[in-house]
Amino acid sequence: MQAGAERFGAVTKYGEVIAAELEGEVKKIKTSSDELLSRTVVIATGAGPRELGIEREEEYVGRGVHYCAHCDGRFYKNKVVAVVGGGNSALEDAIYLSRLAAKVYLIHRRDSFRASKIYVDALGKSTNIEFRANSSILELIADERVNGIRLSDGRELEVNGLFVSIGRKPASELFRDQLELDGGGYIVADESTRTNIEGVYAVGDVRTKPLRQVVTAVGDGAVAVHFAEEYLAKCD
Ligand SMILES: Cc1cc2nc3c(=O)[nH]c(=O)nc-3n(C[C@H](O)[C@H](O)[C@H](O)COP(=O)(O)OP(=O)(O)OC[C@H]3O[C@@H](n4cnc5c(N)ncnc54)[C@H](O)[C@@H]3O)c2cc1C
Repeated sequence: MQAGAERFGAVTKYGEVIAAELEGEVKKIKTSSDELLSRTVVIATGAGPRELGIEREEEYVGRGVHYCAHCDGRFYKNKVVAVVGGGNSALEDAIYLSRLAAKVYLIHRRDSFRASKIYVDALGKSTNIEFRANSSILELIADERVNGIRLSDGRELEVNGLFVSIGRKPASELFRDQLELDGGGYIVADESTRTNIEGVYAVGDVRTKPLRQVVTAVGDGAVAVHFAEEYLAKCD
């Protein structure tokens, strides 16, 4: 795809965008190594996992702290794990892990779930998931790796791994002062991918949308280019 685009004149540059001035006819994008000027900008910065925010969480990523059950669950065959969260993904993760692990603790700060009935029903049928309601995780108990967690009720659970499943965090901070964001930090853009600033488009996981998948992200890319071309045709 990249080679195809370059054949038509696209230029690929690698780097991190560290600042953006999106207002006005000419937009300015500052990267770690460059400053780029353009009339249109398509933002495709995606979203990453939301962290718990407890001490030493970052230090133990990959050594007991995980954010993707489907990627890392296989390391916990016949072991004990905890999943934290109460939405669809947390329940789906707990159910998925219950098929691999010996035991799964599901830890949620409320006493009921935000998840769909289909997941709640499946959870009820599982024999090795223990639900800990009204609990949050205060601390990791760890040496080389995570060995346990301390909960807000003072209890300690021995676990080999912790899967954090409390939602995703869009990479939109850079644009916060200029673009309209929704309550979750997603850039407000409809199916046209247009944002509140003319010539600026948001595509993929970083924009407000009902389904965040590869196919919808790729579709957004095509839509953004269509509207960017239309916008450029109006510029002199
Ligand atoms: C574990 C997991 C499994 C998934 N499985 C599937 C699946 O099976 N099928 C499916 O369709 N979808 C799946 N998805 C969803 C899919 O990955 C996303 O919907 C898709 O990748 C979104 O594409 P995107 O281009 O919007 O964002 P991303 O793919 O997240 O790409 C964003 C890119 O922008 C870069 N970036 C961010 N900020 C900056 C910056 N300041 N400067 C420069 N670069 C920056 C990031 O490093 C990243 O490379 C899965 C997602 C996860 C997390």
